Amino acid sequence: VEYHLERIEEHKHLNAFIEIYTTEAREQAKLVDQKIKEGKAGKLAGMVIGLKDNICYQEHQVSAASKILDGFTSLYSATVVQRLLEQDAVIIGRLNCDEFAMGASNETSFYGPVLNAADATKVSGGSSGGSAVAVQADMCHAALGTDTGGSVRQPAAFCGVVGLKPSYGRVSRHGIIAYASSFDQVGPITKSVEDAALLLEVIAGKDEFDSTVSSVPVAEYSKNLAFNGKARIAYLSETLESEGLDPEIKASMLKNMDLLRKDGHIVEEAHFPYLDYVVPTYYILTAAEASSNLARYDGVHFGYLSPNANDLERTYKKSRTEGFGLEVKRRIMLGAFVLSAGYYDAYYAKAQKVRRLIRDNLNDILTNYDFILLPNAPTTAWKLGEKMEDPVVMYLADIFTVQASLAGLPAISIPVGDHSNGLPIGLQLIGRKFEEENLLAFSKTLL
Ligand code: GLN
Repeated sequence: VEYHLERIEEHKHLNAFIEIYTTEAREQAKLVDQKIKEGKAGKLAGMVIGLKDNICYQEHQVSAASKILDGFTSLYSATVVQRLLEQDAVIIGRLNCDEFAMGASNETSFYGPVLNAADATKVSGGSSGGSAVAVQADMCHAALGTDTGGSVRQPAAFCGVVGLKPSYGRVSRHGIIAYASSFDQVGPITKSVEDAALLLEVIAGKDEFDSTVSSVPVAEYSKNLAFNGKARIAYLSETLESEGLDPEIKASMLKNMDLLRKDGHIVEEAHFPYLDYVVPTYYILTAAEASSNLARYDGVHFGYLSPNANDLERTYKKSRTEGFGLEVKRRIMLGAFVLSAGYYDAYYAKAQKVRRLIRDNLNDILTNYDFILLPNAPTTAWKLGEKMEDPVVMYLADIFTVQASLAGLPAISIPVGDHSNGLPIGLQLIGRKFEEENLLAFSKTLL
């Protein structure tokens, strides 16, 4: 804990933490130390963990990096936090992120952007940027993030660490501040596949507080990391041929495919004809769900209350106008639009159908192959501010991560070396639903 507190101090300028639990972490560490001596310590004893600021921790503030929740204290802990504590993890602080997890660069946070530790003129990626940078710069052993359309995998790729998005329904969302409920999943950001496996094993599984969590048994992922035999891997030619893909990232994918073939795995081309539709489908559906989820921030129940309001109508209007940032407001409006009576069929209902096509296509590929291999993002981390002017340009950067999210499949980002610009490159693997065990074991052969 002392070591990590020093690292946090040294890397303050990166803006990864919103709050540091200095005294509390020291006390927790002492308690855990005692338990270790008594031989009663849990699986995570000694692991120092940071939490993305959209994960509730009892009697601690949580804000989803939004002014509208600034100063709000959580009344209960998320199931994932409860489980970390039961296994004696030490929680060191809460981590910066995009406001309500909406973003791909951690620049929409009310608390300012997070900078990449590999190059502080570049973004961390997002939305779990604080989580990725905290692990990258060794400010904690591991962090939890949330991934709705890439928010664990993409910042992990930008920061050269491991990021795992579990299958939808693998991990409880109880106590997670909702963005898009049919997509959101909590996932670990770590330095190794072993740590990701251990954390997933602790946080995953049935929860009486979240009926969308599957009762499929949770494997002991951390003990089953040996991958035996040969894998069948599909690559999607549409992703490799995609226009905006950085040539060096493409070369890195091709090189890794060759290495896999040399190791005796089968690597073959498969087709995904829907690549052009994944971003629009994702943004229609997530905006719709967000507009509904964020209706609760009304200036009355919790969070920011505008001092300029003097009746109920204005309380709602002014609190929301002043409390939400630009990107969040844009998505609420887009969501309300696609759900409105005149446009529901044309946009929302249509997007649901396309989601089904995408899911069926990926599941078909996964009946013949164990994994799908693709890039994480078209480029490495970009310059701060570079994509803030045009939201569509920012959205398009999600083109390779949203497919697994639309299909509810598990996906992992593995660091595979640096670009000549000095920034990390991540490779993405998608696995079959609820087959995280296999996905983690195979990923370990790559790292
Ligand atoms: N960049 C995507 C978005 O803005 C993904 C965010 C996420 O996974 N939370 O929606």
